[in-house]
Order: sequence, then C-alpha cells, then structure tokens
Amino acid sequence: MKIDILTIFPDFFRGPLDYGIVRRAREAGLVEIGIHDLRNFAKDKHRTVDDRPFGGGEGMVLKPEPIFECVESLGRLAPRGERMARSVKQSVILLSAQGQRLDQALASELAALGRIVLICGRYEGVDERVSERLADREISIGDYVLSGGELGAAVIVDTVTRLIPGAVGNEASTRQESFTAGDAARPLADATEGGCGNRQTVASEGGRATQSGPTSTCVSGGLLDYPHYTRPAEFRGMAVPEVLVNGNHEEIRHWRRKMALGKTLRNRPDLLERVALSEEDKELLDEIRSSQIPVFSPQKERGH
Ligand code: SAH
Repeated sequence: MKIDILTIFPDFFRGPLDYGIVRRAREAGLVEIGIHDLRNFAKDKHRTVDDRPFGGGEGMVLKPEPIFECVESLGRLAPRGERMARSVKQSVILLSAQGQRLDQALASELAALGRIVLICGRYEGVDERVSERLADREISIGDYVLSGGELGAAVIVDTVTRLIPGAVGNEASTRQESFTAGDAARPLADATEGGCGNRQTVASEGGRATQSGPTSTCVSGGLLDYPHYTRPAEFRGMAVPEVLVNGNHEEIRHWRRKMALGKTLRNRPDLLERVALSEEDKELLDEIRSSQIPVFSPQKERGH
C-alpha cells in the first residue's frame, strides 16, 4: 500500500506515524508513506497556497493549483472517473468535515486499496474544485470541526494500516475488536456495501479468520469490545472478575459476550439496531436490562 499525504505542515507528521504498528508496517514495507509539502507547488516567491474567498466572508481558502499540481506530480494515478467508479484500487481523498464519516467499514474498504492520496485542508477549507474534479471522495473523521486535515489523515493512516494483513503481529487480536463484524467467509467486495461496521449478520462464535484480506479481522459482531484485564489479579482492592481466572472457556466466552452487549447498550445503543443478534444475545440483553446490578465493572465501587 502506498499512501501520499499532501499538507502545508509536513513536519506535523513527525511522530504520529513513527510508533508502534504503523512504524513496524513501514519498516516491513507493508505501507509506504510519502509526505508532500504543498508550498513546493506554489508559484510565487512567498510560496502562497491560500487566498481570499470569492463572494467575501471570513478567512482564507487553500488554492486549487498547488493541490492539482502536487497530485499530478505523484504519477501513476488513474483518471478520476475510474476512481469514482471504484474500478481501480486507488483513491484520492479530501479530508473534510463535510465528508462521509469514517468508520471501521470504510477503513476496511480503504485497506483493500493499493494506493491512497490524502489531501489535508486548512483555514476555511479547500477550493471546491478539488473535491469536484480531483478527489474521488471526501472523508470526515467525525462530526466536529478540526483546524486542519492532518489529524484526520493520521487517523486514516493508523486505522487502515493495522488492517493490512501482516501489520498486526497477532492477527487474531484484531478479530474481536470494537465495531468489527461479519465473517471471514464473506467476499471482500461486501465491505464496500455496508461492510464491517454495519453488516446485517452476526459472526458465529469461533468464526475463523483467514489471511486473505482486511475482512478477516471482522468477526466480532459489530458490538463494542469486551473488557480486558491483566495482572495483578488484585490491585488496590479491585479484583479482576472471577470468571476470567477460573479457566472455564465457555463461561468466559459467555461473560465476554454479555459484557460486550452491556457496554454497547450503555455507550452505543445505536450499534445494537444495526447488528443481527443471536437468540443468546437477546436473552443476555434481557438479563442486562432487567438487572438492578450495574452489568459493567461490578467491582468498581469497592473501596471507593
Ligand atoms: N469551513 C469548514 C471547516 C474547515 S476546517 C467547514 O465548516 O466544514 C479546515 C480543514 O480541516 C478542512 O478543510 C479539512 O481538511 C479539515 N477538517 C476539519 N474538520 C474535519 C473533520 N471532521 N474530518 C476531517 N477533516 C476535517
């Protein structure tokens, strides 16, 4: 996977892409990241990349010429029509608060591509001709306004890189994560229509992942992740749940599922509307709803 980032602040990326999974994936050659300074494509001696908005109003707007020329300098990109039709494994993405909202399904779709270009806006935004004629999609990382696209680009690089087969040492560890849904047998193309985050299926427990592509990480049913604990078994009077130390795998599976459902119900009930729940899930949810005891972190209160 080749990722190019266009920005007026190239130094911004010193750091965010130099740690952990992303650093190792870069070193292993699984992902190659190029950072491009838009000012190098400015025409005047002041290296101007922004200008006043037509029609008046506040602030400055990033000019189209440096962005078009920078993208064109990257080479080997398919025409926008082919990228729009999704007939090539390439995407030129404008980071924008007005874009399609990033979720795990979209991250899986992007992880199946071979080439991604990320255009970071600044100020009041980017001349609209970039979105109309150059980029094939606009992506937002959430319903809030950032001061620039750089953080969004770093978020996309991170979430996409960890879905590239081989990037995460223990592939099984990405299978059960929050939001991941569907089963490994589903063809990759499914990820583009709803995909992991909102599949109408629920993975069978113990569903096997394959090494074949990003959807292999999608086996947890679209719920939030279950809680994790590690040693020490008791810390400041807070014990880890008994079920996790008794070694009964079926009880552990059942407990984890219940905790995942409980946390999803509490923090993201909207996700429950989007996944197909098994009979066991429905029973567990009824138990959770009717329970007077807080289902999550029952030991939380102890000693506090
Ligand atoms: N006037 C714009 C906001 C501009 S913020 C609006 O109201 O929509 C400047 C730049 O930050 C944008 O061009 C975009 O590249 C980036 N940005 C802001 N919010 C973002 C978000 N939620 N996701 C991704 N990029 C964002």
